[in-house]
Amino acid sequence: MSIIVQKFGGTSVATAEKIHRAARRAIKAKLAGKQVVMVVSAMGHTTDELLALAKEVSPNPPKRELDMLLTTGEQVSISLMAMAIHAAGHEAISFTGGQVGMVTDAAHTKARIRSIDGSRIRRHLDEGKIVIVAGFQGVTPDGAITTLGRGGSDTTAVALAAAIGAEVCEIYTDVDGVYTTDPRIVPQARKVTQISYDEMLELASLGAGVMHSRSIEFGKKYNVPIHVRSALTDTEGTMIVAETKGMEDIVVRGVTLKRDLATVVLQGVPNQPGMASKIFAQIAKHNIVVDDIIQNIYSQGAEANIGFSTTTDDAKEAAVICRELTKEVPIKAIEVDDKVAKVSIVGIGMKTHTGVAAKMFNALSEAKINIKHISTSEIVISVIVDLKDAEIALRTLHTAFGLDNGE
Ligand code: ASP
Ligand code: MG
Repeated sequence: MSIIVQKFGGTSVATAEKIHRAARRAIKAKLAGKQVVMVVSAMGHTTDELLALAKEVSPNPPKRELDMLLTTGEQVSISLMAMAIHAAGHEAISFTGGQVGMVTDAAHTKARIRSIDGSRIRRHLDEGKIVIVAGFQGVTPDGAITTLGRGGSDTTAVALAAAIGAEVCEIYTDVDGVYTTDPRIVPQARKVTQISYDEMLELASLGAGVMHSRSIEFGKKYNVPIHVRSALTDTEGTMIVAETKGMEDIVVRGVTLKRDLATVVLQGVPNQPGMASKIFAQIAKHNIVVDDIIQNIYSQGAEANIGFSTTTDDAKEAAVICRELTKEVPIKAIEVDDKVAKVSIVGIGMKTHTGVAAKMFNALSEAKINIKHISTSEIVISVIVDLKDAEIALRTLHTAFGLDNGE
């Protein structure tokens, strides 16, 4: 019998009525002959509320305890979901991450999945039950409860789908699919029917709020088709799948804006071998995820500014770590700028089309937007701009690359 994983985000389980609606959807799939695993997030804004509560108690709570607190949110929704299914006359059983053998490393608040033991889930599926698993959480080999980072329930769902060989992982959410860009900023944005894992991976890590990046990595690695769709309708959403030939015809699939960004630049570092290594070793040791790396050389090659971009939160921590580093590395100044944003264009078509960067920079220059930093990869071109220019940049690029609705 084929297995299907259905993941419901916080907004899709925010009230008792919505929990019933999600339950009905799972039951429908069950009645259609599927074995169904549900992965659910915490109800509504529960995770934010728990975080706020923690901040009221302590300005800097231990990460282990934060995980202990935040995982309670999902535990509420899985038990309620099981009750809703029972109330509708069907069998269901709920499990925490630890109970289904979701083993992670010990990086609290951003743990990574190490292994999953699907046997318990399969046993209950074979007994005819709908299995409900708490999203976003795992357990270390020592038994400490961990979380996978904000939005991590997507990753739970896709990783589980891979582990138990599901035919598809459906992500039910409050939007009806993946859009060419954020429709709240660009009303002309369009729904994308099909997108490759690589493009989606870039969109997710570049700030398209739809899905947790790690979930797409799992999808790609284990070739799990992911269907992002609305929890409110039966309309087909967006399929995230392996790349096919015809997909390259479209140069730019989407444009993104990442506001939660800051640059940390160490100025006046001696331009010698080993400096970058020392700096980034410290940053890595503290589990700070570096986005782009920035370096420029001046003073006839004697000195360099070395820096990176990261989230605004991590930038604060990074600044503290870098200040520590001044004991070892002669650094003249540390500059943190959190009034910046990153705007990117993404498309696998860039691999086969030329002049894409020129077109992007030309469009930005016509809109009188100053570019602070540029980075590229095979299927992405990104610019860091002043936060105040970011939305205009996004709209400009959406139009320039023919993504506006009706084109
Ligand atoms: N409840 C968690 C969060 O808000 C995980 C999730 O919803 O994916 O980040
Ligand atoms: Mg989410």
